[in-house]
Amino acid sequence: MPSPSRLILFDIDGTLLTAGGAPRRAFRNALIAHFGTNGDEARTDFSGKTDPQIVYEIMRRAGFDDERIGTGMAELFEHYLVGLERELPQDASHRLHPGAAEIVEILASDSRVVLGLVTGNVERGARLKLERFDLWRRFPVGAFGSDDPDRDRLPQIAIDRARRLTGRPFTGADAVVIGDSPADVRCARAAGAMAVAVASGLPTRAELAACEPDVLIDSLEEWPDLLPAIGLSPDPALAGYS
Ligand SMILES: [Mg+2]
Repeated sequence: MPSPSRLILFDIDGTLLTAGGAPRRAFRNALIAHFGTNGDEARTDFSGKTDPQIVYEIMRRAGFDDERIGTGMAELFEHYLVGLERELPQDASHRLHPGAAEIVEILASDSRVVLGLVTGNVERGARLKLERFDLWRRFPVGAFGSDDPDRDRLPQIAIDRARRLTGRPFTGADAVVIGDSPADVRCARAAGAMAVAVASGLPTRAELAACEPDVLIDSLEEWPDLLPAIGLSPDPALAGYS
């Protein structure tokens, strides 16, 4: 069995799936419960941001100082997660994107690959969103909004976790970040990783192209072309499928 040589890191929202309205409703309710207001949440674009970053941005604009915002952030997210767990199963618009299940299955069975997540979701939020589709177990490593509010630091955290998991000295050059927003491309660059942009979320293809990702696709359904582009030749012998 060859040791894995590629670390493939997926964003969740807008990339693997669309979570529908449940996360925003749960977020709104938690903000109101915790701060007495949801500020300009309804007009705030969450795309590419970490969950704590969203709280800081909205509440700063609502006039709260960082000390007040940071105090009890854990309780705010407890509230959010209770709401998310209650609301997600009832939300018919929570759906996997075309090609997502296929590419995850293929990569999970490729002995050259360690699969991971780089997402702004707090870890338990990521888990709730993916468990619905039985995908959480496919990602042995991950870095989350609960690890750091700064998305640019998340790929390196995932790389460090992959090193500890496998004993292989993964670096940014071994990693690929796949996401739907300019923030995903930026965080890939911050870690020296390859950036794959998928125009399946809110940011447009033109906005993504302006960030100059290494690969730009419209959908994960393009996985047959994507795999060789990220250094994973479909050669069955190389892939260890024999
Ligand atoms: Mg996203």
